[in-house]
Amino acid sequence: MVRVRFAPSPTGNLHIGSLRTALFNWIFAKHNKGSYILRIEDTDSLRSKKEYEENILEGLEWLGLHMDEGPEINSKYGPYRQSERFNTHIYSEYVEKLINSGCAYYCFCTDEELELERDAAQKKNITYIYSRKCLNQSREEVKKKLESKKSYTVKFKVPQSGTLSFIDLIRSEIKFDLSLISDFVLLKSDKTPSYNFAVVVDDMLMNITHVIRGEDHISNTPKQICLYNAFKVKTPHFAHLPMILGPDRSKLSKRHGATSVNEYREKGYLKETLLNYLVLLGWSAPDNHEILSINEIIKLFSLDRISRSGAIFDITKLNWMNGQYIRKMDAATLADNIKPFIAKDFTDKISAYPAEKLERIIYSFHEKLVLLTDINNLLPVYIYSMEDYKIMISQFDFSSEEKDIICSFRNELSMVDMQDLSAAKLNNILKNIQTSKGGGKGRVLKPVRFACSAEKTGPDLIEFLLITGKETLLERLNYCIDNTLT
Ligand code: GLU
Repeated sequence: MVRVRFAPSPTGNLHIGSLRTALFNWIFAKHNKGSYILRIEDTDSLRSKKEYEENILEGLEWLGLHMDEGPEINSKYGPYRQSERFNTHIYSEYVEKLINSGCAYYCFCTDEELELERDAAQKKNITYIYSRKCLNQSREEVKKKLESKKSYTVKFKVPQSGTLSFIDLIRSEIKFDLSLISDFVLLKSDKTPSYNFAVVVDDMLMNITHVIRGEDHISNTPKQICLYNAFKVKTPHFAHLPMILGPDRSKLSKRHGATSVNEYREKGYLKETLLNYLVLLGWSAPDNHEILSINEIIKLFSLDRISRSGAIFDITKLNWMNGQYIRKMDAATLADNIKPFIAKDFTDKISAYPAEKLERIIYSFHEKLVLLTDINNLLPVYIYSMEDYKIMISQFDFSSEEKDIICSFRNELSMVDMQDLSAAKLNNILKNIQTSKGGGKGRVLKPVRFACSAEKTGPDLIEFLLITGKETLLERLNYCIDNTLT
């Protein structure tokens, strides 16, 4: 039974990198019909904040990455917040086990002493390894220091020589020289567990079978394996995901623009786009298809198709993909997705429209939308008044050929019965004008669009004409002909 976990530290909002880690874990669990566990690693009480935890949970929920176990869904493996686990003394119990088995020891070195050691190593340009000054203290010595309330940490005794290797499910065998790994802290001086220690105790007690996380954790893995060995427990499988890079190939960060998932949501990226795009940051489908539903991804997913090299976050591709997903929506779905993004100024104006009209208006833009928020740049074409039109059309300068086309269109339109105005009829009129004037389609469509909308680009033209209606169109065309066509 596969059991994976996503273990964010709530020290910031959910960002693209951690979302991708969550996603890979979730997909892997689904593919293997296993369990996806959410564990909040909030032992750093200074930097952890409830609002960040809420932001993370909310983001995951929005994207549909529901957990099988976690802070909100408890089970026999809980609690799922490390702060709550800390209160149940789980970590001190396991520290004790390691001290008793001789795998860990009390260290009374002060910060200043350790700093001096570190500085000395730095000066010699060698990897810092703790001197083990406190390793060989007698029981009495330790007891005395503890009784005198001297500040201490508990350190893990790393085997001093040899090679430690493990098989990473993405990167194959990774080897570490143990002589280069310093004894590390298990329990900090404030009695809270260190990251490496808490993560192993929790993964062990939660029966985690696969640890899937960012490549930045590779250097922690040998320390964690040492801990599993000390506890005489089988290590889980490890898979380290490639870094997400900005276009300049440095690690993706705020400097490259938005990194928080919220910002993407607010800008009008669809959740389907984000999920699909993020999974392609490192993974590819066997047939290299790129637009894939989450169910297809779950079916096709395997860790061995994850690349080892960093994945570049390409906003142009993300935008393209969002457009693709928008194009796939029917009118009702698009309207449902768009409505929450319509700016207040416009909602007041369009609130009187029947739902069906609003749906048509929105859908007339479906070929143009990249982000859902784009609607606010596009909608005005349906909203502005005759007065607005007059100002806007005065900016246009039509050639005599264009003027001719606009006049023909006005004349033909004026002869159509209001009730008979249909897409077929309009297409027919435009086609006839094109045939009589010669040349390509654009030669007719362009001046008609300009004269009817006073904008150079916009919604699907036929839909726009139908929605705007004969009366308004004629009013505009007449004005345009009388005032701008000299
Ligand atoms: N809390 C760690 C982080 O947010 C989790 C690392 C891990 O998955 O082991 O990076």
